[in-house]
Amino acid sequence: MPEEFFELLSDSQTPPTYKFFNGSAWVSGASGPPAGEAGKTTPVISPIDQSVVGNLTTATTAEIDEIVIKLKSAQPAWEAKPLNQRVKIMHLVADWVHHYEEYLTTLLVREIGKSVGESKSEIVRTAELTDYFADEVQSIHGETINSDDFPGYDKGITAMVERVAHGVVLCIAPFNYPVNLAASKIVPALLMGNTVLFKPPTQGGISGVHLARIFEKAGVPPDVFACVTGGGNEIGDYLVSHKNIDAVAFTGSSDTGVAIAGKAPMKPLLFECGGNNPAIVFPDADLNLTAREIVKGGFSYAGQRCTAIKYVLGTKGVLDTLIPVVLAQMKELIHVGDPRSPETKLVGPVISPDVAQKIQGWIDESVGLGAKVEVGGKHDKAYIEPTILINVTPTMPVIVNEVFGPVVSFIEVPGMGDAATIINQTRFGLQACVFTKDEGTGIVYAKSLNVGTVQINGSPQRGPDHFPFLGVKHSGIGVQGVRYSLEAMSRLKPVVLNKPQ
Ligand code: NAP
Repeated sequence: MPEEFFELLSDSQTPPTYKFFNGSAWVSGASGPPAGEAGKTTPVISPIDQSVVGNLTTATTAEIDEIVIKLKSAQPAWEAKPLNQRVKIMHLVADWVHHYEEYLTTLLVREIGKSVGESKSEIVRTAELTDYFADEVQSIHGETINSDDFPGYDKGITAMVERVAHGVVLCIAPFNYPVNLAASKIVPALLMGNTVLFKPPTQGGISGVHLARIFEKAGVPPDVFACVTGGGNEIGDYLVSHKNIDAVAFTGSSDTGVAIAGKAPMKPLLFECGGNNPAIVFPDADLNLTAREIVKGGFSYAGQRCTAIKYVLGTKGVLDTLIPVVLAQMKELIHVGDPRSPETKLVGPVISPDVAQKIQGWIDESVGLGAKVEVGGKHDKAYIEPTILINVTPTMPVIVNEVFGPVVSFIEVPGMGDAATIINQTRFGLQACVFTKDEGTGIVYAKSLNVGTVQINGSPQRGPDHFPFLGVKHSGIGVQGVRYSLEAMSRLKPVVLNKPQ
């Protein structure tokens, strides 16, 4: 039974069909010309056992139009509201997320197959992030700039530079962090005075509509925030190209990112996309630490993290010693199983049997090209065995594609310079990590890598959330992280005062 707070989100059937939030009411959707077809629903299938968790309603184009027009007209009044009132509402959002921590955790586990611990940590992190945003926004102020420091100007001109909202921001979240990576966009957008249209992922969409309910209940005024559901392939293009959507904040795969960037010309874009993150191991690295970071970084949440380690580069001597340590640590740190079981460690299912099958194809093709399976290499339904591939080369499918599953590949290189060349030639550029006892070497080497962030002696990660987080090349556009996200969800507006002398 749903908590009373969430009762009106669905028809309470088994399995429930969820409504979407049009800005003022929860609706089942059924009117007007369809994006897909009127009243259509899509099942959300649990990766754990392929049971139907619930159905999501596909919004029609007419419904989207109506919602976006209302968001557009409500935006100036929302931006005009005193900041302290927007801050107060966001703190209430954080409180409600904390309050429903257990309920949301259970939902997340079943809907996306994330372990109980990792799901709970996503929910808690969401509440903490929301509070942090609400505190940080209060230190964002404009500035005045005088003309006379530029050659040829006297003091006669002053620019008063303020930060203003974009307008209506479309926030699109991915399946692997459907709550946290929704809030990381919605909260800064609302705080900076934008109105928001939230499009949750289909898998993760049930958690998404629950989060939407929390924004509503926390007191976001009518038509300032709305949440529409429907497959990205059905309503996505319509949303991103909508003339009344003023900016798009998206997290998802590089392929989707590239496709939608082309459909939103001249709109500000804040994109976090795919990562294919390497670990580079220097001969002097602490191999126990390195192996532990590779196992945790490569296999937690079954490798379905944009910052997961996907391949390891080192010389033959280093890899020959490192790989047995990695295999030993895998035995200790990983227990594959149902994410609801407390015995499961790091590896549960990937998001669907189809995705598992796709990954299996990349493993098999790579093996056909000369890679060797050291451990794992097979799947059953959505469960993929934790897999280590050796003798891998940079052009194999497991490197060219983002393998969003529990697979780590090892590439032998003649020297560290060759490793940098390989990394810099890929289309991805989210993070990389360097293992060496010599921090100076790590820092110098980090500068040679064309990626968003380089970690030294630690696996890639998104947090702490107030650090800048970005991808280059096909891994993203713009910078996130608390202050950076607030800035990205706004633009500068100079008003220039000319005072003839
Ligand atoms: P995805 O398939 O690209 O989908 C992401 C979101 O985009 C979903 O809400 C999806 O909706 C929607 N979408 C799909 N097609 C669309 C279209 N044409 N127009 C607008 N929206 C569309 O990615 P995913 O499988 O959910 O997530 C995993 C990917 O996200 C991985 O590549 C991972 O690396 C990346 N990721 C990156 C970061 C980062 O910070 N860099 C963080 C987390 C995840 P539907 O679900 O309804 O299709």
